[in-house]
Amino acid sequence: MSRELPIYLDHHATTPVDPRVLAAMLPFFDQQYGNASSLHHAYGQVARSAVATAREQVARFLNVDPREVIFTSGSTEANNLAIKGSLAAAPAGSHLIVNAAEHKSVLDVAARLSRRGVEVTILPVTSVGCVDPQMIADALRPTTVLVCAMLGNNEVGAINDVAAIAQICAAKGVTFHSDITQAAGRLPLDLARDAIDLASLSAHKIYGPKGIGALIKRRSSSQRPMEPLLDGGGHEHRLRSGTLPVPLIVGFGRACELIAQLGDGEFARLRELTSRLERGIRGQLAGVSVNGPAPISSRLPGNLNLSFDGVDGEALMVRLKRIAVSSGAACSSADPEPSHVLRAMGKSDALVKASLRFGLGRPTSMADIEVAIDEVVSAVRDLRGGANINH
Ligand code: PMP
Repeated sequence: MSRELPIYLDHHATTPVDPRVLAAMLPFFDQQYGNASSLHHAYGQVARSAVATAREQVARFLNVDPREVIFTSGSTEANNLAIKGSLAAAPAGSHLIVNAAEHKSVLDVAARLSRRGVEVTILPVTSVGCVDPQMIADALRPTTVLVCAMLGNNEVGAINDVAAIAQICAAKGVTFHSDITQAAGRLPLDLARDAIDLASLSAHKIYGPKGIGALIKRRSSSQRPMEPLLDGGGHEHRLRSGTLPVPLIVGFGRACELIAQLGDGEFARLRELTSRLERGIRGQLAGVSVNGPAPISSRLPGNLNLSFDGVDGEALMVRLKRIAVSSGAACSSADPEPSHVLRAMGKSDALVKASLRFGLGRPTSMADIEVAIDEVVSAVRDLRGGANINH
């Protein structure tokens, strides 16, 4: 195994497990392996107490009550539960509002519900990938039960004004769901301040393990009832039955705690690295455009999505041997379709296919960024035949 791995710049797809998270999890695999529902012996009690601690850590991270945390297998399940669960409990003919830049685990759920008779509105997004809160206000109907708008976009880092959207929804008694998967750990979060009713997140995007996440279900006044996707032992307030994966939950809790310990300095560091990456590439190559909001302060820290004029995206990816990034041509999903987010922003097919998403993270250093700049600039120059140098 001597082959050196490329520098990892795909932290939107997933993040490495922090060693402190791993250390917290390990005893719960082979020593404290009780079922958190086995309350009559010490094994179960230890597991239950570890789950309670993790639940508090997740809740503190988001400024919610621990009883509002429903553990799921991740954001895909949390989004499914939020939307299918809310609509299943609503009267026939109810209305759902989503937008075209949401993750597929929102859009595909909306499409399925629409085939089952739910009224669905898919709002367009702006050319930088944001939802206009006024469009939501205008789209609300007396039958609207749920509005979904993600906080930070996973492809272009666009940040939505969820506080404004929440206010609009609350005024009409409509439940507001936000997918905060990418914003968690990259922006300061306070669900209570922003009055978000439902929120989805995944531990593996915040240096925790894969296969665990949560739906936060606030006990706010606009909340309507919700049906579970899984029935069984009645875990998680009957909303998500199934034996709790204690090691994963412990890791999730510790990952949340570590973000608070790192503080806001990490956000600033990521923005500085991202800014250097953007300047380094655009300073040496013409015909490079940023997808998403232009000022770096209005994107998620660590996000940079670029399109390269006159370059074939797949050919570019093949040449990038020293860095691991994601391409708009075949996005991170199992479904190799060109990015629906860039398309929703009105980008041409050629630019969508010639785009790269860089996702910087905790392990990324300035030295990594210099390698990335060098790698991208030389690959694009090669593909353009060496002619296109500088503005
Ligand atoms: N929502 C967003 C915004 C995401 O970025 C992702 C992961 N790419 C998901 C939902 C789904 O998360 P998971 O795969 O952990 O279920």
